[in-house]
Amino acid sequence: MTHPTIELACKLIEEKSVTPEDALCQPMMIERLEAIGFKVERLRFGDVDNFWAVRGDSGPLFAFAGHTDVVPSGKEAEWQHPPFKATIEGDLLYGRGAADMKGSLAAMVTACEEFVSQHPDHQGRIAFLITSDEEGIAINGTVKVVEWLEARNEKITWCLVGEPSSTNTVGDVVKNGRRGSLGCELRVIGKQGHVAYPHLASNPVHLAAPALAELAQEVWDEGNAFFPATSFQISNIQAGTGATNVIPGDLKVVFNFRFSTELSAEELQKRCENILRKHGLNFECKWHLSGQPFLTAKGELVAAAQKAIRDHCALETELSTAGGTSDGRFIAPTGAQVLELGPVNATIHQVNEHTSCEELIRLHNIYTSVLHNLLVAK
Ligand SMILES: [Zn+2]
Repeated sequence: MTHPTIELACKLIEEKSVTPEDALCQPMMIERLEAIGFKVERLRFGDVDNFWAVRGDSGPLFAFAGHTDVVPSGKEAEWQHPPFKATIEGDLLYGRGAADMKGSLAAMVTACEEFVSQHPDHQGRIAFLITSDEEGIAINGTVKVVEWLEARNEKITWCLVGEPSSTNTVGDVVKNGRRGSLGCELRVIGKQGHVAYPHLASNPVHLAAPALAELAQEVWDEGNAFFPATSFQISNIQAGTGATNVIPGDLKVVFNFRFSTELSAEELQKRCENILRKHGLNFECKWHLSGQPFLTAKGELVAAAQKAIRDHCALETELSTAGGTSDGRFIAPTGAQVLELGPVNATIHQVNEHTSCEELIRLHNIYTSVLHNLLVAK
C-alpha cells in the first residue's frame, strides 16, 4: 500500500530509537515540517532530543504532541518480522513503534502537509511538541519543553497527543483525561529475633497485615462522571532474611494509587498514613507523585475530534480516562485542552507490535479534519 503516511511510518520504524534515543526520527520529521513553513527549535535537555515547531504567527495554538522513542523489542527471535524493519503483510504494518507511536507521528506530519497545501493561510498556529523521552524516565522530555514554553509565556490552546487511544478500531475511544498516579515505598519497622522467642522480637509482617487489609478495602472515593473510583494496589511485599527461623526486622511494601479528580494526592497521603498510625505501626513512607489527574471535559478540541471521527469512521467516539499516564499530564496543567487520539493499542509494548495500514490512513484523515475543524473559518 502506498500512501505518504505509510511510507513515513516505515522510515520512522526503521530508525532504532529505543528510549531515550531518537536515532534520526526527529531530523526526518523536521525536514518535512520545515519544507511546509514550520519554524523549528531543537531542544536538547541532558541526553534527550526534543523539538518544538510552529507554523503561523498569531492566534490560538494547536499542537500535536508525541514521542519518537520506543520501548525495547524484547527477544527479537520471538518476532515474526524483525522489530526494526517495517514489514507490511496484507493490511498490517509490523515493527516496534508501529502503534506507539510512530504511526501517529507519520499521520501528524502528512496531515499537516495536506492541510497546509489546501489552506496555506490557515487561522491560528500549528505546532509540534516532540520528545524522545516518554517511554523512559521522562525527566528531560515533554516536562522540560513545557517549562521552556512557560518561560517564554507561550500557551498551547489545544493539544492532540498521538498516543494509541483506540480499543477495537481507530477512533472508537479518545482519552480526555487521565487518572493521577501516586506511589509509595512503605517500610514497617519491627524487631528481628528468633521465631522460637517471639516475646523478644516484634514481627512487622504480623503488625502490618491488618493495616494492609484495611488499605486494600478502603473506599477512597466513588469516582465521578469521568473517572472510575480511586484504586489502591499493592505491587510488592518483601521481608525476611531467607532463614525460616528468623522473625524479620522490617517489612517493605510498594503500593500505588490511581486516583480521580475527586481527591488530591495530599489527601490520599494523609488518609493512608492515618490508617497506618491507627494500627500503631512504626513506619516510614517514601511518596512519589508521578502524575496529577487531568480532565478536558468539553470544548472546541473535543468537538473537533468527535466531528472528525464521525465523518471518517461513522462512529460516536467514547471519551475515556482509563489507562496509564501519558505526557498529557505535563501539558494539561498549563491550561491547554488535551486529547489523546491514536491507533488501536492492542499490541503496544508487545512482541509483534503492529497496526492496520488502512486505519493509519484513516488517522491521517482524522488529523487533517481536526486541523480543518479548528483552523478554518466556518
Ligand atoms: Zn506512547
